[in-house]
Amino acid sequence: MDFCKIDKFQRKIKRIIITKDEIKAAVKKAGEIINSLYDGKPILLISILKGSFIFLSDLCREITVPCEIGFIAAKSYYKDTQSSGIVNITLDIQQDISKYHVIIVEDIVDTGRTLNDVAKLIKSRNPISFKVITLLDKPDRRIVDFDVDYSLFTIPDVFVVGYGLDYGEYYRNLPYIAEFSE
Ligand code: 5GP
Repeated sequence: MDFCKIDKFQRKIKRIIITKDEIKAAVKKAGEIINSLYDGKPILLISILKGSFIFLSDLCREITVPCEIGFIAAKSYYKDTQSSGIVNITLDIQQDISKYHVIIVEDIVDTGRTLNDVAKLIKSRNPISFKVITLLDKPDRRIVDFDVDYSLFTIPDVFVVGYGLDYGEYYRNLPYIAEFSE
């Protein structure tokens, strides 16, 4: 094991901004709200990969009403900490959306471009209803005016990793959200 490399890796974590316990409590509350709003309704949770996979897996286990899960992959960030401005849909969902109340599950809303594009695509398929839940919201960075229905945490304009969010595909497995410095 290369301990120098591990140390360098860890030094890029500047500070924890949302702890594991804070995330757990907020995800539980979000699940309770979904349970009360969607009782008896067919729900399709659509996770935007890859960043939201941990949020989705924790959130769906707080949901007690029957729900289906779908995945969509949209990429707008590459290896650096700046948005490329290009959103590509690289994986689409299989379900017939018109049969469901759709809830998009997103990791973070930054410029809003990704959600704006994904929302347009999903809405064009006529879901019974459409809502967006995001783990994190960075309103200071918004370029596209996009209204999120439920945001668990609002954060300042810093680049974050952990709980599904990556830098160059690393750090997704951290159990907390941390500020990252290159
Ligand atoms: P947007 O299209 O809103 O600019 O960006 C959305 C996507 O950019 C997110 O789904 C996420 O993958 C990535 N992103 C935006 N801000 C951050 C950040 O602070 N950290 C990480 N790891 N990814 C981010």
